[in-house]
Amino acid sequence: MGWLDGQVALVTGGGSGIGRAVLARFIAEGARVGVLERVPARAQELRSEFGDAVIAVSGDVAQLGDNKRAVAETVAGFGRLDIFVGNAGVFDNFLSLCDFPEGSLAEAYDELFAVNVKGCILGAKAVLPELVKTDGSMVFTASVAGSNSGGGGPLYTASKHAVVGLIRQLAAELGPRIRVNGVAPGGTMTDLRGLSVLRQGERSHFADPSAEERLRTNNPLQIALAPGDLAGAYVFLSSRTDARGITGTILTVDAGAALRAPRRS
Ligand code: NAD
Repeated sequence: MGWLDGQVALVTGGGSGIGRAVLARFIAEGARVGVLERVPARAQELRSEFGDAVIAVSGDVAQLGDNKRAVAETVAGFGRLDIFVGNAGVFDNFLSLCDFPEGSLAEAYDELFAVNVKGCILGAKAVLPELVKTDGSMVFTASVAGSNSGGGGPLYTASKHAVVGLIRQLAAELGPRIRVNGVAPGGTMTDLRGLSVLRQGERSHFADPSAEERLRTNNPLQIALAPGDLAGAYVFLSSRTDARGITGTILTVDAGAALRAPRRS
């Protein structure tokens, strides 16, 4: 028996990285999964790999119409919706305010917040009528950058603090029927892209050959997190039985990176 037998989820950004690992694990736990993914080739690939267990919709989380289409297609195919995973995101590659080219700042803000924050809000609005019917739940991908400095530049950090605020507000607003939680990953080896307005979009920050080693040496567990290391947290928070009493919670999975180093005297 799986943790999510008979459940139906919708995952945004499910074509790569953390979203893809969540999707694969949800299916292994007995769920069927709709996906809203910007890159059409990735949506196509999911259809070939997961067959009938997936309905992959190409579209942009920053468009309400695309979110509504993903909900409609998921419900038309699978009959219901129990879980929303708001996960699609983009990065600012740690670009500091001092180094930010002044002429691109406003546009970069619009691009990043459109995906990381507006995408979560529009997704939540689009799934709400279906989650009310099933007493469902939402899990958003926050970040360690949602509770501290140093997990990104100012744009990314501000956007993830906003996601944490959204989780808390929605958890308070949508109870008692709908639970709302988040997962806060630390640095994880994915294809996470930067901003196209800054020409950071062609290559992932983690494609750098030193990235894995840097992640590994930056936490007490000495591991470079992979997307699969995060998936269980989403399964747990989505469980109707094991997480029945959990809402407004952010579960950190960062290999302990946020801990202060022991004093060496
Ligand atoms: P990823 O790039 O591997 O996966 C993100 C997926 O989202 C991609 O398939 C991408 O095409 C899709 N996407 C991007 N913009 C979209 C849009 N507008 N509409 C629809 N789909 C879109 O990166 P990832 O690291 O797996 O990122 C997933 C989430 O995890 C993001 O919210 C990110 O901020 C967060 N996160 C990542 C890390 C990390 O170190 N990788 C750490 C903390 C939080």
